[in-house]
Amino acid sequence: MKRILITGAAGFLGSHLCDRFIKEGYYVIAMDNLITGDLKNIEHLFALENFEFCHHDVSKFIHVPGELDYILHFASPASPIDYLKIPIQTLKVGSLGTHNCLGLAMAKGARILVASTSEVYGDPEVHPQTEEYWGHVNPVGPRGVYDEAKRFQEAMTMAYHTYHGLETRIIRIFNTYGPRMRLNDGRVLPAFIGQALRGEDLTVFGDGSQTRSFCYVDDLVEGIYRLLLSDYAQPVNIGNPDEITIGDFAEEIIKLTGTTQKVIYKDLPKDDPTQRQPNIDKAREILGWEPKVNRAEGLKITYDYFKNLPKEELYKKEHKDFEGYIRKQKAEMNG
Ligand code: UDP
Repeated sequence: MKRILITGAAGFLGSHLCDRFIKEGYYVIAMDNLITGDLKNIEHLFALENFEFCHHDVSKFIHVPGELDYILHFASPASPIDYLKIPIQTLKVGSLGTHNCLGLAMAKGARILVASTSEVYGDPEVHPQTEEYWGHVNPVGPRGVYDEAKRFQEAMTMAYHTYHGLETRIIRIFNTYGPRMRLNDGRVLPAFIGQALRGEDLTVFGDGSQTRSFCYVDDLVEGIYRLLLSDYAQPVNIGNPDEITIGDFAEEIIKLTGTTQKVIYKDLPKDDPTQRQPNIDKAREILGWEPKVNRAEGLKITYDYFKNLPKEELYKKEHKDFEGYIRKQKAEMNG
């Protein structure tokens, strides 16, 4: 049985990856520090013999007993709201956490795939974004902690590949959605659906002309699976090129949910990218991959998931006591 370590396993993407690799017959070691992840996302796997959970922060030395064939490094806060609240942790998991995962991969002779992001392109001046584009990132802006950690992650991963011959894979993930997103993580889709379900107006930031391209989670997971098993070490974009303005997206959510609320406009956050659409030629050619689930289908599944959550989830303002978590980390370091 192949053994795989998944970091960030209790998060939105990590938990779907656990499901997929369990389904493929792997032994899955799920690691998470549970600061933005949630055990609820993986508790259905706890009884399985080929699944184990390890509560650990990958920014610290990682010890995994036994052999490992693969590592998927998906631990990181991934929404602008989260990384504004825990900026240092975001930098650490993308840099120190990646370094630890790469070191572990070396020690185990494992192949590692790291989760990068369309944020490495920043506010892009090339549209759609190809893997060859170097990006337009503000290192000291609010998104810098995430963007630069991910750019460092790519550099570090390529260095291990080039200088140590480590088998590495880099995926650049564009906006992805689906069940198990956190309702209160500030991302546009759970924000809009949460607002609709609570009977609040939908908050569009700026004039709503900025664009995003949303990929359904099952499509993304298929892309990750194929990239991991491929022999391609350069970065690959995975995302759905179907681009939409945030204003039009709000209208789609209003239709889908049947809410009678309206759109209200709020200030555009600093450095919010004006446009984003993946060029997926590489994924098509190298992996034979393209998205299969269109937005109407994916949104319906996702809306059904949110609709069926316990009512109190809808009104939770915070996921975690981030400040308490940081205090505890500092105390541990000093002690
Ligand atoms: N957005 C919005 N209203 C919200 C939350 C987000 O208009 O309540 C906008 C946000 O400014 C951005 C887009 O939706 O232009 C996508 O935001 P998200 O945080 O989901 O992802 P990212 O900006 O990282 O692509």
